[in-house]
Amino acid sequence: MSLKNKVAIVTGAARGIGRGITEELASLGCNIVIADLNQKDCEPVADEIRKMGVEAIGVGCDVSHRSDVENLLGKTLEKFGRVDIMVNNAGIYPFKSFAELSEEDWDKVMNINLKSNFLCSQEAVKHLPEGGRIISISSVASLIGFEGLTHYCASKGGINGFIRALALELAHKKITVNAVAPGAIQTPGASGGSEEQTKQTIAMIPAARMGLPADIANAVAFLASEKSDYITGQVIVVDGGWILR
Ligand code: NAP
Repeated sequence: MSLKNKVAIVTGAARGIGRGITEELASLGCNIVIADLNQKDCEPVADEIRKMGVEAIGVGCDVSHRSDVENLLGKTLEKFGRVDIMVNNAGIYPFKSFAELSEEDWDKVMNINLKSNFLCSQEAVKHLPEGGRIISISSVASLIGFEGLTHYCASKGGINGFIRALALELAHKKITVNAVAPGAIQTPGASGGSEEQTKQTIAMIPAARMGLPADIANAVAFLASEKSDYITGQVIVVDGGWILR
């Protein structure tokens, strides 16, 4: 698989799954735009990616704001003159019981997790060439329920519906739109639980280990490559078999 001379934007790329995705795409020769809330968090990642022999820039961007997303595409085109792959990864997962959930909590999760997919994809589509890719990071929480995550589960279910409909609208342009739904992945954002909780989670996973950002990045790289040309509108679950039970 090669992504030589292609350009990918990855949101939420300063750490965790997003960072893993940037490393895998760069290893295939892809130039990378690292988009994350704070520009200063993007720069060290861009430095590391450049050491892999591709070009990289960091762009501070709140993916829930249209003007930030417009700026993100502007910076990408200024540097590279093109964009081939849009990876909608940025997301938050704050636990709160339904009874305590405020309208602000709901709106924040919806805006960062779901509206961002609308904004980033709409801005990217204006420039994606034939063979372009939109890849969204959903979650197993789009397919099964989790207590304390009604807002999150709704936002990720929304992504699954979004990518299916957009896949239909973009098929004639030979742009594919897919999602990857991670299970329990070891990231800074997911590291809040105790050792005991991690053990309990692993006990439920047939693969008997937590997932790594690289496990998700491998699926994203396949969906970004020409090997997945005939796959669109799909949600690929990468969870070590967790939700089969
Ligand atoms: P993470 O470690 O918390 O990293 C997320 C990154 O996104 C952080 O750098 C964060 O910046 C950034 N971000 C947050 N809000 C943003 C915004 N409004 N605009 C731009 N960037 C923003 O998360 P992760 O565990 O890697 O998760 C990445 C994606 O995978 C999310 O969509 C998540 O829902 C999904 N996922 C994760 C798991 C898992 O087990 N980890 C499972 C299923 C799905 P700050 O650090 O500055 O906040």
